[in-house]
Amino acid sequence: MNSLQILPLQDWGFNFTRPLFISGPCSCESEDQMMETALRLSDKGIHLLRAGIWKPRTRPGMFEGIGKDGLSWLVNAGKQTNKPTCVEVATVQHVEDALEAGIDILWIGARTTVNPFFVQEIASALKGVDIPVLVKNPINPDLQLWLGSMERLNAAGITKLGAIHRGFSVYEKSSYRNLPMWEIPIELRRLYPQMPIIVDPSHICGSRDLIYSVSQKALDLDFDGLMIESHRDPDNAWSDSDQQLTPEQLGEIIASLVVRSSAVDTMFGNELDIWRAQIDRIDNYMLEIMADRMGIARKIGAFKRDNGITILQTNRWDEIFRDRISKATEKELTVDFIRELMEAIHQESIRHQTKIMNNILAD
Ligand code: PEP
Ligand code: MN
Repeated sequence: MNSLQILPLQDWGFNFTRPLFISGPCSCESEDQMMETALRLSDKGIHLLRAGIWKPRTRPGMFEGIGKDGLSWLVNAGKQTNKPTCVEVATVQHVEDALEAGIDILWIGARTTVNPFFVQEIASALKGVDIPVLVKNPINPDLQLWLGSMERLNAAGITKLGAIHRGFSVYEKSSYRNLPMWEIPIELRRLYPQMPIIVDPSHICGSRDLIYSVSQKALDLDFDGLMIESHRDPDNAWSDSDQQLTPEQLGEIIASLVVRSSAVDTMFGNELDIWRAQIDRIDNYMLEIMADRMGIARKIGAFKRDNGITILQTNRWDEIFRDRISKATEKELTVDFIRELMEAIHQESIRHQTKIMNNILAD
């Protein structure tokens, strides 16, 4: 993997402060809708105005964006309210049109990040252009693919590079439109601490009532900003109507978000150190316990092998599963967590037993 050269947000040439707030409609629909939304947003604490001009819709027959005409409406709304503008680009033609119209920042949408051919074409079209690019995560939970897109842009000379976390598409039903899977942007932060990561609660949530809690969580995880869709009349928006907020509702959310400090000062540093030491101790203890548990699994594996018994006895596994879940509930652990934990332990146990069955490990 190439390592990325990234310019920190404060060196992008805008008056960006942290947290960075990006807002505007999902789609630009008319000159009037764009201007009114921007004017009503202008005093709500946002730094950057967004709008979708070309909309990648899952099914045909939906509103696919107003097209090129909307670019000047967005740019004018930005000028009128003194905000830089950003837009999604998915093709070389979009890039050319957006640059010609004077858009300040580009973003690559989730359905484009998945395709290395498209990203490469966009990157090549941006060779020699000094413009910031924000890359949304691919729709599938694949950090490598996300990084790969950034590497292509970086190789084309784009160093004002940021990420937008908009959640990941899964088949299971969930209260989220796209699962946040926070561990993925956290890993991105670990790999590239200097890369700005903006969270997009609108596309994670899919409904406006969840936006506040996901936004607060994003700030508590110390991400750099939020992109939240806002429309002058959300219920009648031509796309993503359930998740958009009026500019006034967005203003209330921004005003009530709590920005906590990530710097651990000495006053509460000591207390934190003590808790962290306790966490380390508990984790080490957990590793010891898991090693013991797998040791016993290997003994059981040897016994089953010597007596011609199958590894998996469904009744026994059902019994364990039900017992652990009922105990966990009493201890205020969530059922989902215990289910996933027990399944992971069971899988590991089966791996150990299989090796013994096949005489790979000494018993
Ligand atoms: C959008 O921001 O309106 C959009 C289309 O988002 P995504 O690429 O995350 O689906
Ligand atoms: Mn949208």
